[in-house]
Amino acid sequence: MLVDAPFDCQCCGAVNVTSVDVSAGRKQSYTEDCQNCCRPHLLYITVEVRDGEALATIDAEPESDFF
Ligand SMILES: [Zn+2]
Repeated sequence: MLVDAPFDCQCCGAVNVTSVDVSAGRKQSYTEDCQNCCRPHLLYITVEVRDGEALATIDAEPESDFF
């Protein structure tokens, strides 16, 4: 199951929305590029279930080589 979750680009500040596969686990991390400035970010995703609904929250970190 996919849910949309936002993260802020740490470089340009743009808000990106990504789809998280909440059935893939409560803690996930992967790399995704900012849709505005194309810098890669490491996303640390936490999945919670509240009232039967899955919510994903994201901490974004810029990938170090680019900064
Ligand atoms: Zn950006």
